[in-house]
Parts: sequence; C-alpha cells; structure tokens
Amino acid sequence: MLVHAGHPGGDHGVPRGPARGLRSVVTHRVYVSADLEGVAGVSHLRQTMRGTDDYPDARALMAAEVNAAVEGALDGGAQSVLVNDAHGDMTNLRAADLHPAAVLLSGWPKVPWAMMQGIEPADLVVCFIGYHSPAGTGGSVLEHTFSSRLFMDLRVNGDVWGEAEFNAALAAELGVPVGLATGDGVFCAAVAERIPGIETVAVKQGFGYNVSSSMHPSLVRERIRVAARRAVERAIAGDLPLLALPERYVVEATLPNGGAADLCTLLPDTERLGGRLVRRVTETADGALRTVLGWLHLAGAQAPGHPTIPGGRA
Ligand SMILES: [Zn+2]
Repeated sequence: MLVHAGHPGGDHGVPRGPARGLRSVVTHRVYVSADLEGVAGVSHLRQTMRGTDDYPDARALMAAEVNAAVEGALDGGAQSVLVNDAHGDMTNLRAADLHPAAVLLSGWPKVPWAMMQGIEPADLVVCFIGYHSPAGTGGSVLEHTFSSRLFMDLRVNGDVWGEAEFNAALAAELGVPVGLATGDGVFCAAVAERIPGIETVAVKQGFGYNVSSSMHPSLVRERIRVAARRAVERAIAGDLPLLALPERYVVEATLPNGGAADLCTLLPDTERLGGRLVRRVTETADGALRTVLGWLHLAGAQAPGHPTIPGGRA
C-alpha cells in the first residue's frame, strides 16, 4: 500500500459471512485489489511515488497487469469486476486506461477497509495484483506493511502479517476466498503457504529492497490472464477453500519512534507495551484491519519522511 495520512476508523465487528454456495455462484462479481510494488518492472521505491519521472511508467505497468486480471476473470465467467486502487493515495489507475468491464474504486482515504474497500459478501473471489511481502522480509522487493515509514514490525498472534494476510482474513470473514495473488517470488511462495489453494504468478525475483529482475510485461500479463481465469473457474466450481480464521487477533506493532507510539494509544484499548511497541486485541478480522489502519493514520503525524526519497512521505 505505502501511505501516510488520513483519519482513523472505528472498530465495530461485521457479522461472519455466509458459507460459500449458491449465492456467490449467481453473483459472479470479481473483486481486484491492486497494489504497485509487486508489479513487473517495478524495482525501486522511486517508481512507486507520485511526482518522480519514473512514476508514469509504473502506473501504466500496473494498469496493464490489472487489465490482464480483468480479462482472465471475464474468460473464467465473471460478470463484473470491481477494481480497487490500493496503492499510496489510491489514485494511480486512470479510468480510461482500464478494461471497459472494470468498475474503478479510486481515492483516499477509503474508510474503513482501504485496500479492501467495497468488497461484499456476495463477491465470488478476490484477486491481489501487484502485492508484496510484509515488513522485514529478506530478499523481497519493496517489502513493507501498509506503510514503510510507520510499521517496523507488525504481527498478529505472534506471526508476522502483511497486507495480504490482513486483507485475506477480512475477505474470509465476509465469506469470500482469495483466488489469485501476484508479486515477487518470495511473496508468492509465502502467500501460497498462508492461503491454501491460491493461484500465484511470480512476476519478478528480488535481489534487494530496491532491486529485482522481471519477466517481460507481455509474458507477465499472459500468465496473469491465465491464472485469473483459473481462479474464477475454480471459485465458480466451489473449489477454493476459505482461509481458516483465528478466534481472536492480538495485533502488535513496532512504531518508528515514541511519538508515533504515543498517538497510537489514542485508539481505544490500545496498550503501550514498550517505548515503541503497541498492542490491541480484537475478535474479528475487520477489527484487526481497522486497528492497523487507525494506528497508521494516527502515527503518520509523528513519523519521519522516507530516508531514500528527499521529503518523501510514503
Ligand atoms: Zn503499495
């Protein structure tokens, strides 16, 4: 995602979603959450930041991968596709660049679910395009969780969780499986272990935080199209398992400084465990996601700019 400011959300649970079945089969809307760091050809942080000379090319590469997923979804039987722009200020995708069958959700801040805004229990399947590894993952391109400036370490029940884990848990709570994820090789290997049955497309290999080797975009798009078609076909066939969810979510974050941790305690029930460590316990994936997004918006007021981009606030 990679963001910095906005307003905290509240915390009220959503009901558990319905079991998979007939309802989803008649709906056939596919939900696409599109990030940028995991797109082929994107290696350096500069490319992901509005205002750099690299950014226009990066957003075009992102749109092309999203369109490949839309085409594959339609091939597989989707009747409509909602594309949620999920990177930075969430206005990277230009409406005219998208496939005509796609409906674009654009703008920031998206309260309450950000990268998952607009998902509905009736949706058939979720596709993560251009995703990336959690903060602290070695050998993975542009690894971070929701913000590279704000969360040095983010865990749920002691395990490192990334954006894919938080977002997939919310989808599962609503009764929607995640059928496809694309990103670098390390991300894809990890997400395939975390989300049973998911299709993945490794579009590049990381050789450092700002270094990767990518397949050619045309080959990547073809693979994404095929994988999206397969994910939708499998969803229609009822062949995608729902992610198993924990009974409760002990969410812990390490902030970059004490000031950011101070502000996080404004979110009710947030405990201060140490100088920079905060914790909040919730009963739902919805609550866990709102916790992190609430902290994100609060801590953003005290976090430093990004060291590799002068004045960068990503
Ligand atoms: Zn992003």
